[in-house]
Amino acid sequence: MSEDHGKPMTEMTEDTCDQELWSKVCALLRESLSEDIYDRWIAVIQPGRRVGDHLELRVANDFYSTWLEENYVPMIADAFASITGDQTSFTLVVDSSLRSPATSTEAPPPPPPPTPPVKRNVTGSGPLDSHTLNPRYVFETFVVGSSNDFAHAAAMAVAQNPARAYNPLFLYGGVGLGKTHLMQAIGNFAVTSNPACRVCYLSSESFVNEYIDALQNGKLTQFRKRFRSVDILLIDDVQFLSGKERLQEEFFHTFNALFDGHKQIVLTCDRPAPEIPGLERRLVSRFEWGLVTEIDAPEFETRMAILRKKAEIMNIQISDSVIHFIAERIAANVRRLEGALVRAASFASLTKRELTTEALERLLRDSLDDEAPAPLTMERIQRAVAEHYDIRFQDILSRKRPAYIAFPRQVAMYLCRDLTSHSLPAIGEAFGKNHATVLHACRSIAEREKEDPELRQRLGDLRETLSRPSR
Ligand code: ADP
Ligand code: MG
Repeated sequence: MSEDHGKPMTEMTEDTCDQELWSKVCALLRESLSEDIYDRWIAVIQPGRRVGDHLELRVANDFYSTWLEENYVPMIADAFASITGDQTSFTLVVDSSLRSPATSTEAPPPPPPPTPPVKRNVTGSGPLDSHTLNPRYVFETFVVGSSNDFAHAAAMAVAQNPARAYNPLFLYGGVGLGKTHLMQAIGNFAVTSNPACRVCYLSSESFVNEYIDALQNGKLTQFRKRFRSVDILLIDDVQFLSGKERLQEEFFHTFNALFDGHKQIVLTCDRPAPEIPGLERRLVSRFEWGLVTEIDAPEFETRMAILRKKAEIMNIQISDSVIHFIAERIAANVRRLEGALVRAASFASLTKRELTTEALERLLRDSLDDEAPAPLTMERIQRAVAEHYDIRFQDILSRKRPAYIAFPRQVAMYLCRDLTSHSLPAIGEAFGKNHATVLHACRSIAEREKEDPELRQRLGDLRETLSRPSR
């Protein structure tokens, strides 16, 4: 799908990035990247429109877009800056008329089937990404689960009946849980079903910037007219209005004008309105006039469904066990879930290897760090104890009986009982013993721990080692 951002942006000069400049940037990047990486990730980019200091980078599918955004955009920006001396920002645009390079047969995957183009009757003249609706953020790609079904139903009702169902609609929830997606889905739905509907989407930060620009350039009247002439106003992340009094005043009047004119207002926030510090009470109360609804972190089944959906949309092949691993280990943020999926898929396609749990663990370390630590495995305990007592891991698992092996084995059983939730039979199985042996070992070590300071010290050290994340 060729993303055409609607009307040309008249207030800025627009041209295409000249090929010579792009070639220089590429030459620079080629120096610092391996050939494989360069061919796979940089050579596939087509420079697109340039508006002011924004440049579009066109790529064949979502897979490239997400991966480049996460990994290579800062490097591209540096290369640009070192040639032009200016800071350039980038928008990745999916253009399925671009073909994936012929050399990569196995990966990245072929472009996904084109999404029907969305006619976006979106007002605005700012930078490339501030007023445009992302065509990917539609109801069809939003996975509904118990964490978000209420918010989804409310958004659907608003999209079908702007200004009649709930006004305003106030969606709140943590980072990366789909607020922007749902909000834009309303806009996309509205303009698709009624092309005459004027939708304005912007973050409250853009609202701030545009207000300041308008003030400085004596264009306040145009500014007001623009926002007050829309049918649906979508303001994302209203927490940024916090403490900005004049702006709140301005926003208050915009809100009233739209509300009185029976126009739909949708707001998102990272918290409930009364918890936004420095937000005028009259705004808090208006934000709560309509429907307030929360989006929660998705539960496991929804996370699995989201990952499957994303894999389908990006057309990436990934095994169910990998999806399971990611869904289990990343819970708090859907954006991170998505990043992990792309990273895993990309790694698998680059190395052409099946991803083992260990490989995934290493690959996704950064994302997993912020999440729940990996559950402590019995194998890790066995290995740590073997290392501590300077014996071989295989000895711990063996039937050997000399005390210098049997005793650490008992210590390991005791720690498995103490530090994991495994049952006695399960621990027995991990050591090739029965549950009675495990019980005996646990009792015996517990007794000795009371009397033997050296053992206490050793157990303390082992617990300390095992409490650290495994690397
Ligand atoms: P927020 O605005 O709450 O920070 P976003 O709307 O930007 O979060 O969502 C982050 C990413 O997660 C987006 O790519 C979005 O498509 C995806 N996402 C979040 N929730 C869902 C969901 N329920 N179904 C499908 N994708 C989701
Ligand atoms: Mg958002």
